[in-house]
Amino acid sequence: MRLLILGGTTEATALAAAVSNDSRFDTLLSFAGATRAPRPPAVPHRIGGFGGIPGLVAALADVDLLIDATHPFAARMKHNAAQAASLTNTPFLAIRRPEWQPTESDSWTEVPNMAAAAQSLGPTPRRILLTIGQKDLAAFQSAPWHHYTVRSVDPPRPETLPPNATVISARGPFRLADELALLRHHRIEILVTKNSGGTATEPKLEAARTLRLPVVMVQRPPHPEAPTAADIPTALAWLDGHAATDRGA
Ligand code: NAP
Repeated sequence: MRLLILGGTTEATALAAAVSNDSRFDTLLSFAGATRAPRPPAVPHRIGGFGGIPGLVAALADVDLLIDATHPFAARMKHNAAQAASLTNTPFLAIRRPEWQPTESDSWTEVPNMAAAAQSLGPTPRRILLTIGQKDLAAFQSAPWHHYTVRSVDPPRPETLPPNATVISARGPFRLADELALLRHHRIEILVTKNSGGTATEPKLEAARTLRLPVVMVQRPPHPEAPTAADIPTALAWLDGHAATDRGA
């Protein structure tokens, strides 16, 4: 069966690796092209947008199964995938990793978007760690009195940065000891992050908890209705089910 995985996440790459030697599936992994040098996956891949819902509908003519394994904040692609699957009757699964939840030792301010995150930092100059990717940094130009340490996979475009910014390029997974060292070295007072979920970037939350730092947590955008799996084994079971149906047909 021809399987298309919409990727850009550790789950997508892990799922692709898990099916790479499975002769029942002819798998293609799709990247948006957001990361300049994605890690080479274990299956054939393509890079770049499809051209909205019509483009994805056209691409699904050559696809038997579609899995959306995009990031929880890739709202447009999630919507496009659900719509295109429905329009073409393509069996569809969305991998939705559980959200992070605060523990009793955490001090989180949950906000709906980046503008609200910037506003929540208040009028007193603070040293902020931004781990929000590079797309939405411009929101923090509205609070230029803070000092920002910006960590992202690719270096951000300079015009998107707030004025007092130190840029660090790094790709997870990150270890607790390194996250503690980073927070201490940059004398961070507040961590701003998105509720991405998953284990690869979770140690920063543990580090903030250890140092009793407040966290501004940007909530996820709404996701479309879809059959979902929270993890790779559940996604593999879904694939097994479809492969069995295909053999029986
Ligand atoms: P987005 O706003 O939902 O999507 C913007 C456009 O990028 C889509 O309309 C689509 O273009 C294209 N696109 C997105 N994912 C694609 C994929 N897997 N394959 C082919 N085209 C794709 O997405 P985003 O937030 O910019 O994220 C872009 C990519 O980075 C995604 O693959 C996502 O999984 C990954 N990522 C995002 C974040 C984040 O915080 N947003 C974090 C880590 C990784 P067309 O309409 O032309 O098809």
